[in-house]
Amino acid sequence: MGLNKFFSRSTVTEEPVSPIDAYSASDPRRIKLLDAIEESDLSWFWASDANGKIVYLSRAAQEKLTGEGIDFHDLSLVELFSTPISESDDEHGRQRPLPFLLRARNSINSLPVKVATKKDIWWEISGRPQFCEKGEFTGFRGSAKDISAQRQGQIDVNRMAQYDALTGLANRHRMETRMAKLLTASKASQRSCAMMMLDLDRFKQVNDTLGHQAGDELLKQVAQRLDRIIGDKGEIGRLGGDEFQIILPDMDDRGALGDLAQTLIQMVSQPYSINGARAIIGTSAGIAIAPFDGIETDELVGAGDLALYAAKAGGRGQYRFYSSDLSSDAHWRRQIEEDLRDALATDGLEMQYQPLVDTKTNRVKSFEALVRWNHPERGWVSPAEFIPVAEETGQILDLGEWVIRTACRDAAQWPEELVVAINVSAIQFANENLPTILSDAMMSSGLPPERLELELTESVFIGDPHATHEMFATLKKMGLRLALDDFGTGYSSLGYLRNAPFDKIKIDQSFVRGACEGGNNNAAIITAIVSLAEALDMVTVAEGVEAHDELDLVRELGATHVQGWIYSKALPQDAVMEKLASGELEYEPSGPAKARASRKAMFRKVGVIHEDHRYEVVMRNLSRTGARIEGLLNVPEGTDMVLDLGNGQLVVAVVRRAEEAAQGLEFETKLISDGADGLCTRHRVSPYALAAAGMPLAALPAGSYGVAEAMGVNPRSRPHFLQIETSPA
Ligand code: C2E
Ligand code: MG
Ligand code: MG
Repeated sequence: MGLNKFFSRSTVTEEPVSPIDAYSASDPRRIKLLDAIEESDLSWFWASDANGKIVYLSRAAQEKLTGEGIDFHDLSLVELFSTPISESDDEHGRQRPLPFLLRARNSINSLPVKVATKKDIWWEISGRPQFCEKGEFTGFRGSAKDISAQRQGQIDVNRMAQYDALTGLANRHRMETRMAKLLTASKASQRSCAMMMLDLDRFKQVNDTLGHQAGDELLKQVAQRLDRIIGDKGEIGRLGGDEFQIILPDMDDRGALGDLAQTLIQMVSQPYSINGARAIIGTSAGIAIAPFDGIETDELVGAGDLALYAAKAGGRGQYRFYSSDLSSDAHWRRQIEEDLRDALATDGLEMQYQPLVDTKTNRVKSFEALVRWNHPERGWVSPAEFIPVAEETGQILDLGEWVIRTACRDAAQWPEELVVAINVSAIQFANENLPTILSDAMMSSGLPPERLELELTESVFIGDPHATHEMFATLKKMGLRLALDDFGTGYSSLGYLRNAPFDKIKIDQSFVRGACEGGNNNAAIITAIVSLAEALDMVTVAEGVEAHDELDLVRELGATHVQGWIYSKALPQDAVMEKLASGELEYEPSGPAKARASRKAMFRKVGVIHEDHRYEVVMRNLSRTGARIEGLLNVPEGTDMVLDLGNGQLVVAVVRRAEEAAQGLEFETKLISDGADGLCTRHRVSPYALAAAGMPLAALPAGSYGVAEAMGVNPRSRPHFLQIETSPA
């Protein structure tokens, strides 16, 4: 097929040729020039008939297609070329797709098209519609060139600008753009979008001990694990360092998000093999959900960061949802840091001791030393709250030393058969002065090493394996006993048990809790831990036993020791001495017959909606399945109401027990964990729903959203019940 066959005709219809033109339209040299261009691959030519079928294609182009195994004979333009959707919102393109242009007989201007093949071959085509003398459409004619190489180059440049070279995940820039787009779209369609911030725990240690290359390899493997879990549910980005972000469009189910975060944490916490070395890290996660926690990117990211920070402070390896109290928590943590310094300097801390009892004989074998802080303004602050802060700030070293000295001194006064167990944080364990501190304390108190037990958690295995091994060897050589605390949480690996010289395993209370309720495999896990411990010649302690049914169960499952409120809470040294003075080392179990869903005592103002009236009441405790409220008089049992827990959290409840001004409510749907030790509703009433009912969307107040008012419940309507004042007691 020669070019002139198709192009000669146009020479007839062309407008008069200007004298400047070197070649007149019919000059054969012009055809030669076009032939030369065609052969040079600078530009190819093509033509289609009125039906869009390809009737001409430059030979060079034909050869190219045949070389790729494409048979273009009898193909139409739209069969040979496709315009992927992404191309039409390409920043250069913005042209309609090819079929549209052809149908409308529009001209085609440098349109990138994908050539019908699996391979990534891209051409850029231009063309114009042709008409015969009678004005009838005869087809398109145009030019084409291969742009695959430029395109690939462009894609690489775009990729570099948008993706992280190390892990292949989106980079910060891309995540910001994606988030802004998604939030705008969600706002328009009033949908939700969740965002998760992850920060690896102890990544720095791996980097420092195994080297940067190992650190890089670790980040890649983390990225792969995240990707395997998230798949196409969302987009994952690496924001830099060991910080990751996940955007999850159309997600607001806190139950599902909590489960997902838990899975991510578990997967990231599994050991890694890096060039033959083993590394273990963890991760913490903060979750924020639009529109509840923010409607702009900045707000949402700020909320996610705060939630992440809270998760880290809560002991790492945990997730947290954003809540408006986190802003005040962040403040409180800074306060802890300052006040703890004072407390350490002024003897503001106190040690208490909780017995560990032999399940067969009910005799106390040892006491665990638990630190207590009576804060001048806040009262008793839980160690679960201030130990993580002390670990973060390094104050744990001073605090830990004080604990060791005090506990040794107190224990030296107990009968000789009793052991004191001291909690030693991973940071203390990594401190090479620990053996000296311990032997000094034993020397000055006169406590022999066999009466001192150290409780370590699995986090001691993170960090330099050589130093860890040395420390274990030194402590054993000193004659101390070692217990593995909180087993089953965090980084549990049976490998630790085989290789580290533990005398005791403490089964975390989370397995005891609920073991009697069914619907979980806690009992099976306890059995497994017990038989493993037996095989390794270790004793087992079930932590946190509160009720008789729990005690019976853990006894039956073979735990050799029990620590829990059923025997005694932690008591100050005076009280311990008083008990021991009688020479009586037996403890009688006493507690509720059955474990109840744990209820948190509190004094929190919440709303109750009944019919079209909203009341202010005080919530005194809250569990997954119910709550106790005070402040309404004589509400009959069986009354249906809605509890407004604030921030759009509405819970349908029925009154199950009623005394004068107090009611026990049962919830229609269970609450879920908020990641901390709090509870929340799985879904919330969207601020959009509130906005629709007249609430301003941009100015969502913290705390109560006034859901009831916004939904048309009138606070000034006639109340059905009498509301009374309640005070904290
Ligand atoms: P842990 O070492 O697992 O200590 C057991 C915790 O369970 C203690 O909480 C104890 O009061 C609580 N507990 C015991 N029996 C029951 C029960 O039947 N029911 C319930 N609900 N709880 C029970 P505590 O004293 O608040 O300490 C919390 C954590 O703080 C400890 O967990 C330990 O990890 C840390 N900690 C406490 N004292 C020290 C210390 O001196 N040094 C260090 N590094 N950490 C400490
Ligand atoms: Mg402990
Ligand atoms: Mg424990």
